[in-house]
Amino acid sequence: MNANAAVDHPGTRTAVVIGAGFGGLALAIRLQSAGIATTLVERRDKPGGRAYVYEDGGYIFDAGPTVITDPTALEELFALSGRRLADYVDLLPVTPFYRLIWDDGYAFDYVNDQAALDRQIAELSPRDVAGYQRFLAYSRAVFDEGYLKLGTKPFLRFWDMVRVAPQLVRLESHASVYGKVARFIENEKLRQAFSFHSLLVGGNPFATSAIYALIHALEREWGVHFPRGGTGALVQGLIRLFEDLGGRVLLDAPVTRIDVRDDRVSGVELESGQRIDCDIVASNADLVHTYGTLLAETERGRRESAKLAKRRFSNSLFVVYFGAAKTWPDLAHHTVLFGPRYRGLIEEVFKGPNLPDDFSLYLHAPTATDPSLAPPGCTSFYVLSPVPHLGAAEIDWSVEGPRYRDRILRHLDQTTVPGLLDSIETTRIFTPADFRDTLNSHLGSAFSLEPILRQSAYFRAHNRDDQIRGLYFVGAGTHPGAGIPGVVGSAKATAGLVLEDFAVASAA
Ligand SMILES: Cc1cc2nc3c(=O)[nH]c(=O)nc-3n(C[C@H](O)[C@H](O)[C@H](O)COP(=O)(O)OP(=O)(O)OC[C@H]3O[C@@H](n4cnc5c(N)ncnc54)[C@H](O)[C@@H]3O)c2cc1C
Repeated sequence: MNANAAVDHPGTRTAVVIGAGFGGLALAIRLQSAGIATTLVERRDKPGGRAYVYEDGGYIFDAGPTVITDPTALEELFALSGRRLADYVDLLPVTPFYRLIWDDGYAFDYVNDQAALDRQIAELSPRDVAGYQRFLAYSRAVFDEGYLKLGTKPFLRFWDMVRVAPQLVRLESHASVYGKVARFIENEKLRQAFSFHSLLVGGNPFATSAIYALIHALEREWGVHFPRGGTGALVQGLIRLFEDLGGRVLLDAPVTRIDVRDDRVSGVELESGQRIDCDIVASNADLVHTYGTLLAETERGRRESAKLAKRRFSNSLFVVYFGAAKTWPDLAHHTVLFGPRYRGLIEEVFKGPNLPDDFSLYLHAPTATDPSLAPPGCTSFYVLSPVPHLGAAEIDWSVEGPRYRDRILRHLDQTTVPGLLDSIETTRIFTPADFRDTLNSHLGSAFSLEPILRQSAYFRAHNRDDQIRGLYFVGAGTHPGAGIPGVVGSAKATAGLVLEDFAVASAA
């Protein structure tokens, strides 16, 4: 029996999940579906975590995730209790998946239509049409192994890693995403088009394992979606499901301490002084925050947080949410604007030591799919720029933030969104300092531990603590990693462990 098993306590079936990000929500639903009385405790006034929602003057801004892939992982959460996702949320297909625009104005619509893709690839480089097919085959092979087979399996023992080593070697997981793409595709624009995806989960395409090339196959398999009403509507749908199942949600309720007695969790304490007794605590909050602050009184907490703090964390993001009293009918829902440099810029974003002068941007214009997210005749946007985290570059964001915002908006006005500056009605920014202060994110990282091979699977934070019984983790810092499919997958891995340990008979 493992150190965490609690079958000797058959009556103990209450859980607290700390943090209502997608990972916390998915885990809470799985536990509640399995009959464990679960309380979801969130420090902010709304659930969602990185998928928080801002509402300014009639504009609705999803704060974080906007590219919804793998709807099957979400559907599974509803199916656990015989319900249907479609009865809670309407997922709309988005096409093109992304419009990619380079600094010289060249545009490429990344779509799920092979003929249209081939035509655009051939326009840039006829030889790369065949190369792309080989890349797609590779991406699908990694998707089958790395996502479908291993994406929801916990890696707790070194042996778990040894067992998959042959597959990892065969798929050349030691190569980088860009290195692998470059093996198949010659044209530099196309290399960028098929390697930038790892940035969506905090991975440097030049350093992250080629395993992350699977994101391409994942998007081709199930498409890119957007919930009617925004990502916030998906969060609300998950909350409604959890509450329909009898789960309890506490908002504005920061957890200040996880209580551990005799190496077993016994409850949590909230900032308000309230204590919640429980047998299972699962943290969806940042790993360093959980070990270093919530478990600061334990030897284990102090040691683990010190160890974790020495590891490599993903970059941060600078985000501007803005509303404009105008529409741009030709604008795509998702646009990636590559800057003049690719490798050089990415290296500086991951290593610092300064804020780079140039930027590459992701522009979100959700009103292209759902006009209800802005007042009539208006457009709601966000634009994000990957930037170094607080440990890589010393930047006073209270000074630099407004300046950086103005530079980015000016750039958009001059390139992709003409007339923007004259029509802006509202702006707000979210900086690396906000990731740290609002989300308790170590170094203000946007995606937790960097997804490099030596921080993946067994080498990532384990979904169950190795020593404190009843303590679990879920979310971007655990296996398999960041992104909605990743954290929803981590919830499945974690729920499996909880149910095994507490001998609860269920499919969750
Ligand atoms: C701007 C941005 C855009 C992104 N775009 C995409 C995308 O398009 N598609 C995609 O798939 N992924 C995207 N991602 C990544 C994805 O959003 C994240 O990886 C994922 O949402 C993280 O979920 P999580 O479960 O780890 O929890 P988080 O969202 O990190 O939530 C953790 C929660 O814990 C709470 N918490 C922290 N400390 C405490 C405490 N002491 N007590 C109580 N609560 C606490 C926090 O307030 C927070 O709500 C994006 C990320 C960002 C930042």
